[in-house]
Amino acid sequence: MIRIGDVLVSKGEGGVYSERMLDGYRVWDPYRSKLAALYLLGKGIELVPGMKVLYLGAANGTTVSHVADYTEVVYAVEFAPRPMQDLLEVARRRKNVMPILADASCPEQYAMLVEAVDLLYQDVAQPDQAAIALRNCIFLKKGGHLVLMLKTRSVDIRKEPAEVFRDTLDILISAGLTIVESTWLAPYHQDHAAIICEK
Ligand code: SAM
Repeated sequence: MIRIGDVLVSKGEGGVYSERMLDGYRVWDPYRSKLAALYLLGKGIELVPGMKVLYLGAANGTTVSHVADYTEVVYAVEFAPRPMQDLLEVARRRKNVMPILADASCPEQYAMLVEAVDLLYQDVAQPDQAAIALRNCIFLKKGGHLVLMLKTRSVDIRKEPAEVFRDTLDILISAGLTIVESTWLAPYHQDHAAIICEK
């Protein structure tokens, strides 16, 4: 990942969401992007040229645009029509972003559009986040990685965040994934955790 001093950046055309520019690079803000927070916490899977990414919960393409700056192709799934309008604009300016209007809990809706990927990134903030991730592992190459951004309060508001975190780890391990690392995203995002698994 490219850093200028302590600042995480990506190399690409700016002006996607009024992000700052630094020495010609786009500043990737950890308070706006959980993935940027993960990298600034010293964890995560390195994004490299040639990498194929399936991104679930693309929203308006803020993080998608940075991922696309580093990788070969990003299949960006989002089910809400409003953010999809912004995502389409990101895709117009970044030819390696493939926007897909679909429900990530039904991967059969987009199976014909997506190839096997090296990285499955999920940020959907749903109660059944782990189940959605597992369903989409059909697209993940053996040895590929899942990065699951867990919003613990969306899974079960009555449970302690730490309990939701542990339960989710158990679900992923029971499904046969290997946990590579996991971390809370504080101080950037409260009650959010990142779980990185290998298939
Ligand atoms: N990843 C984005 C970023 O960093 O710029 C932020 C994502 S936001 C926390 C969660 C997004 O997931 C919302 O835009 C929501 O509409 C979308 N989402 C939630 N459930 C979904 C589902 N089942 N399928 C597709 N998108 C979903």
